[in-house]
Amino acid sequence: MSEGAAPSGGSTPSVRFVYDASLAAYELAPEHPFRPERLELTRTLLEATGALDREAYADVGPLTERELARVHATRYIDAVKRASRGDAGDEAYAFGLGTGDNPVFPNMHEAVLRVCAATVSAVELVASGAATRAVNLAGGLHHAMHAKASGFCVYNDLALGIRRAVDAHGLRVAYLDLDVHHGDGVQWLFYDTPDVMTIGLHESGRYLFPGTGHTYETGRGPGRGLAVNMPLEPFTEDASFLEAFETVVPRALEAFRPDLIVLQAGADMHRDDPLADLSVSLAAMGASYRRVVELSEALTGGRLVATGGGGYDPYRTVPRAWSLLWAAVAGVTLPERVPETWRERWAGSSALPLPETMVDDPSSWPPVPRRATVSSHNRAVAARLMEVLETIWAERGTDAEATRHDDREGPG
Ligand SMILES: [Zn+2]
Repeated sequence: MSEGAAPSGGSTPSVRFVYDASLAAYELAPEHPFRPERLELTRTLLEATGALDREAYADVGPLTERELARVHATRYIDAVKRASRGDAGDEAYAFGLGTGDNPVFPNMHEAVLRVCAATVSAVELVASGAATRAVNLAGGLHHAMHAKASGFCVYNDLALGIRRAVDAHGLRVAYLDLDVHHGDGVQWLFYDTPDVMTIGLHESGRYLFPGTGHTYETGRGPGRGLAVNMPLEPFTEDASFLEAFETVVPRALEAFRPDLIVLQAGADMHRDDPLADLSVSLAAMGASYRRVVELSEALTGGRLVATGGGGYDPYRTVPRAWSLLWAAVAGVTLPERVPETWRERWAGSSALPLPETMVDDPSSWPPVPRRATVSSHNRAVAARLMEVLETIWAERGTDAEATRHDDREGPG
């Protein structure tokens, strides 16, 4: 099995790839950095490697406006619908619509609703027990707020998926955000919710949009201690990223004991991403995805939903990053080389030469400035963060346990 993807061994869990062509309609503007082509680039790469079978595909189910209104204000939904019909009034700007980041486009409401429906479908498959894990690469719109579009995101598919898991299935959900930008929308929507923990590793808000995700944002009221933020220094490299991940994520998940993990796997943490400043490689990103799968095996009976997110190096970085994500989730091994058929298919569309190998080689990169300072700063921040959180978790103690819904059995 040297050419194609091979199962890593053991029993194959039921893993679904939620997809249809309509998901690519979420295109904010022709020159906008958020590129819908990333879906087709990844899907075709996965098919070329043999890692994605037809049987893994799952349809996008319906999502009602009533369910949409559990996360978003109806006045905001109405403003999005008007703007999508070309009738953006003066109030649109107050809702974050018609900005450089979030331009208005025809049928915007329908297009983003479809992306949200796909994430909710992924959650439904896993929460109902029909699948162990599910992926929606079109999802990951983590900046969308209750009544505001932000950071390329109109509606928050992740929050809608989490709501479905909590409200319809009584699950406790741990949301893990590995996008380079802080997942502010999801965090604020569940900031005082006892059933949802949000965990994020991101470039520090001191340097990068949206400017939040500081260690002192730890949740409020019944959600106190359930927002976990690990801000990373610019130029953070693989070893420091993985060390911070290991210091924070397993312990936070263990303290919360979720029934389901929802992973936002934005691919913009990579060194070549033009919108951010971390220096992480595909190898480390792949390792973090495999670790999340391992943690879900240990803590949630394997229940995991993963989405895409940011990622602005669409031809070289994103398809490989999300292929590694799918490979981790599906439990398959990718070939070392990018298949020639894929490179030939897309060579004419990419301004830069397409990569030849599935992971990159960080040892060939020039050394980053302040390497030792960056690592020791990240280590100190992670240690301090965990000290603060451990104190809060100890105070929550049996309170946290009392919020468990022990009257229901999780699927599988
Ligand atoms: Zn991002």
